[in-house]
Amino acid sequence: MKASQFLISTLKEAPTDAEVVSHKLMMRAGMIKKLGAGIYNYMPMGLRVIRKVEAIVREEMNRAGAVELTMPVVQPAELWQETGRFDKMGPELLRIKDRHDRDYVVQPTSEEVVTDIARQEIKSYKQLPKNLYQIQTKFRDERRPRFGLMRGREFIMKDAYSFDRDQHSAKASYQVMAKAYRRIFDRFGLTYRAVAADSGAIGGDLSEEFQVIAATGEDAIVYCPTSDYAANMEKAESLAPVAPRASAQDAMEKVATPGKSTCEDVAALLGVALNTTVKSLVLATDEKDEHGAVKKTQVWLLLLRGDHDMNEVKVGKLPGLAEFRFATVGEIEEHFGCKPGYLGPIGLKQPLKIVADRDVAVMADWICGANEEGFHIRGVNWGRDLPEPDMVADLRNVVEGDASPDGKGVLAIERGIEVGHVFYLGTKYSKVMNATFLDVNGKPQFMEMGCYGIGITRLPAAAVEQNHDDKGIIWPDALAPFTVVLCPINPDRFPDVKAAADKLYEELLAAGVDVILDDRNERPGAMFADWELIGVPHRVNIGDRGLKEGVVEYQHRRESAATSVAVADIAALLL
Ligand code: ATP
Ligand code: MG
Ligand code: MG
Ligand code: MG
Repeated sequence: MKASQFLISTLKEAPTDAEVVSHKLMMRAGMIKKLGAGIYNYMPMGLRVIRKVEAIVREEMNRAGAVELTMPVVQPAELWQETGRFDKMGPELLRIKDRHDRDYVVQPTSEEVVTDIARQEIKSYKQLPKNLYQIQTKFRDERRPRFGLMRGREFIMKDAYSFDRDQHSAKASYQVMAKAYRRIFDRFGLTYRAVAADSGAIGGDLSEEFQVIAATGEDAIVYCPTSDYAANMEKAESLAPVAPRASAQDAMEKVATPGKSTCEDVAALLGVALNTTVKSLVLATDEKDEHGAVKKTQVWLLLLRGDHDMNEVKVGKLPGLAEFRFATVGEIEEHFGCKPGYLGPIGLKQPLKIVADRDVAVMADWICGANEEGFHIRGVNWGRDLPEPDMVADLRNVVEGDASPDGKGVLAIERGIEVGHVFYLGTKYSKVMNATFLDVNGKPQFMEMGCYGIGITRLPAAAVEQNHDDKGIIWPDALAPFTVVLCPINPDRFPDVKAAADKLYEELLAAGVDVILDDRNERPGAMFADWELIGVPHRVNIGDRGLKEGVVEYQHRRESAATSVAVADIAALLL
């Protein structure tokens, strides 16, 4: 590629809304261009990086025996209604209508469609196992799209789905993917950690996240430096002993004091009881008997522990406190006529009474607006203008220095960016969609499934968080938009410089090197600054003075100075 033909659009300044370094540098390097909130153009330079990510992922998926297909971005709602997710999924699911007023969704993931394919195409155990994957555009109407490609609304994901005849074989398929993921992330040349994640209602230990270590990561990782133990915070907390270190006593006292408690206190109390982090608390509704007396109160909690939780309705018991169920965003919206969110520290106007009556507790008269019918907060702007709750810090049951669950040391906490996720699904989708095959005895059985995602467009952002300096990006070779840049110095004045650069360019191209020749006739300073910002790892400066001595200058992006290399040796050095 010649730079004069390419579209290079570097910027001196990063836009003001860019908070993290990857967002700033990718914008400044002209890799991405914002079109709307969480919606970006992948500019030519950025697209080359994305294609590199895709190529590695594709190669390793194919090597692991997965088969590529693509499923539509816009999907008819019927399939999503079959699994209930059309209603259950919250506002993250973008629903649209066509000209005939029919409902569609823009895919945030593709379990429904792939299960529909499987139930039609896979009839016999002889066709199993199968793993189908796509590298395709996704849309999630994220509550807080931010950090550029890191948390976009439109993004590219590799999503794979395995189908197996039984649990044993499904777990083997999961392991094949977990291993392929390690190969993939090793190849990117990034520092990452595979951490145990919550597998939700399905149980077992078959869910892992692949987290690129970065201070700006939105996830907290708990690990033991002296053993293999590593988990995300949710998982670690669910394993932690019920140690009410999160000042249960304080919360309890406050909640019992009229006018003193806040939603945070209530959340804290519930968090302790649930042994988890209640980041957001929704509300309670009363059920009354024929005399109008409160029979029981249902407590509605929205646990913002990860978006998957929002897609499922869970029913359980708060030990000694109340019956509870986790509501979906959709349900809450429907029930209360407003969007759920963080309620913020609204002081309780009335004392919160917790009347333990066997397993049912009554929470009454709490929070502004609660009346006999229960809770009314219609029209209140929940969440939007309130600060993001940082209750994790206060409520964590797991802290640095705790003994690790494997007993092999103490825990440390660091931050990570989730770039991949492998998940054993069991028959969750095959059951509701009736995806069966005939087993060896000719009997229909539900397919055992797994799903496996990689954030194709999030990955470059994570890579930049780990690889940059004050001049710009430093791409690992595997991800670089170009691996080599040739910088002829004043080629318009020195024909020998132009000739040498052209010759080397042709030679490298012929050898399959991903090279760009900067033939823009820029001043050397501006030219070097561009390539340092863009982050091409290998640069060759070709100048008249050097050529007279038979040398060119080679500089790796990580090095502070160039070294002289004989013209005769340079091509070999770059191969
Ligand atoms: P997160 O916890 O960051 O919201 P997720 O757990 O919701 O991610 P998955 O459903 O596991 O995401 O999707 C698989 C992968 O897709 C994630 O591991 C991540 O790399 C990527 N991904 C998810 N949401 C986004 C997004 N909004 N922008 C870019 N990549 C994303
Ligand atoms: Mg996640
Ligand atoms: Mg999410
Ligand atoms: Mg995930």
